[in-house]
Amino acid sequence: MNREYLRHPNYDTDAPLLAVKDLRVSFATHQGSFHAVNGIGYTLAAGKTFGILGESGSGKSVSQEAVIGIVQCPPGHVSGSVRFRGIELIGAPEPVRRSVRGQGIAMIFQDAVTSLNPGLTVGFQIAEMYRVRSGVDRHTASRRAEELMDRVKIPSAKARARNYPHQFSGGMSQRVMIATALAQDPAVLIADEPTTALDVTVQGQILSLLQELQADSGLALVLITHDIGVIAEVADRVAVMYAGRIVESAPVEELFRAPSHPYTAALMASMPDLEAQRSRLAVIDGAPPVLSKIPAGCAFHPRCRHAQERCRSTTPEEAIIAPDHISACHYGRELRGQMALTHAD
Ligand code: SF4
Repeated sequence: MNREYLRHPNYDTDAPLLAVKDLRVSFATHQGSFHAVNGIGYTLAAGKTFGILGESGSGKSVSQEAVIGIVQCPPGHVSGSVRFRGIELIGAPEPVRRSVRGQGIAMIFQDAVTSLNPGLTVGFQIAEMYRVRSGVDRHTASRRAEELMDRVKIPSAKARARNYPHQFSGGMSQRVMIATALAQDPAVLIADEPTTALDVTVQGQILSLLQELQADSGLALVLITHDIGVIAEVADRVAVMYAGRIVESAPVEELFRAPSHPYTAALMASMPDLEAQRSRLAVIDGAPPVLSKIPAGCAFHPRCRHAQERCRSTTPEEAIIAPDHISACHYGRELRGQMALTHAD
């Protein structure tokens, strides 16, 4: 795989592939400031999958749009640190950010069909992405597009390259989007709900494809989802987001074995479990907060069955409660692995 750009003299090959620190995103509106992301951090190594889990409005998508540098500023304001191979991207000149976007970090979205240009063949769209990145001629780029479509397992890739987006199903369109991202040969792929619009069988196929691509090329994956089952299947490490913060993070097995934040436990209790044969699923009471009115203290306290007086006034800090396991709950240590996950039975 061509990773020539990684030999750029400014890249620090000893630095983590991606290191995010105290990332904050807010939006100024007529109704006040919306604090969408409130100081998140993580690091990601080649070949690993970092899952970001949370309900709509938790800040998971906006945080990763800030990582790749596509938040519109203004009205947005982004601060903190995002380093790719040691290069700081926040506040960097646009040519630096552009050189990393796509070639270093690429992103795919839930709605693949609307992400493609309906008036151009998919082969042309993939080829153009490759041609712009590598500077090859159109014929070479077209051949590469067909190879990439074959690599993401689109049958009869050569013929299908001449088709338009509307001629592809949802699952096949997502494969086209993945091929378009791969045309830029990224080291990190951010996938925002890549399987949400797909039926369960196709969802499994897309997740398997992403895992195969990782095994082949060392691609690092940031997977944004509200689906805890998807996280369980593919992530190495998970961060659970609520009201723009990471409230819990741990290796995936540890998180499932011993959830230590009531929000994580509530998300897990709301997951269908065929073995448990629950008659109804648990629901999390209430709704996520409006981001211009995040409650004082712990943002989750209005919905939390374990809330105490202290939770209403004091914001819990992130604390290491077990090796490699962080919880931002005042009672994370006490609650670790103790919360019932079947409270709707
Ligand atoms: Fe619940 Fe308090 Fe923990 Fe927040 S800090 S999750 S309100 S117990």
